[in-house]
Amino acid sequence: MKTLGLLGGMSWESTVTYYRLINQRIGRRLGGLHSAELLLYSVDFEPIEQLQHAGDWDAAAHQLIAAARSIERAGAEGLMICTNTMHKVYEAVDDAISIPMLHIADATAEAIQAANHHTVGLLGTAFTMEQTFYRGRLSERHGLDVLVPNDDDRAIVHQVIYDELCHGQICNASRQHYTRVISDLAERGAEAVILGCTEISLLVGPDDASIPVFDTTAIHAMQAADWMLD
Ligand code: GLU
Repeated sequence: MKTLGLLGGMSWESTVTYYRLINQRIGRRLGGLHSAELLLYSVDFEPIEQLQHAGDWDAAAHQLIAAARSIERAGAEGLMICTNTMHKVYEAVDDAISIPMLHIADATAEAIQAANHHTVGLLGTAFTMEQTFYRGRLSERHGLDVLVPNDDDRAIVHQVIYDELCHGQICNASRQHYTRVISDLAERGAEAVILGCTEISLLVGPDDASIPVFDTTAIHAMQAADWMLD
């Protein structure tokens, strides 16, 4: 089994999910008491979140690069960034280390293509829904058509992530908002929806959506566990 490094803590609520899912997958594939060989660097999210909202992505990248180098020095053979949003600085981190990285959008796009979907809705932080680093990768590299919610709904989706989900708060009213936003995306032609923030699956799942749901946390975690064994 290869040793995997997790760059997590963004937020730690979803890093817990990654840890559980990767260990479960390794256990299922190997049986017995097998579990995952992991190195976790869990950052303090508050300063990272402030840099995100200040638009200082270079400073945020420096923090992640320092953490990634620590993980590499500790012996990881591969690395994953356990958040969609911070894939904004994926290239900078990738350039700074020599071990391979598993990109969350690539893993997600491959799962969507395997299910034969072409037009997908995207939920995530405003950074993920509005900037090109994520949507652009889905469309340019993988040929997907990506729909995002309207301005007001993007604001709600973003606010729920930072004000509730990253604090571990799960509210029924927010689940209803998300369900309605997903229905709107379906009406506009989305064949499936990407839960493009690693905390969203804490709030909604397949039962809350009228179209298939692609949970980036689960997809990324499964791909990572398979990479460790294959
Ligand atoms: N975990 C979230 C994501 O997947 C949002 C928190 C962050 O900004 O990293 O985008």
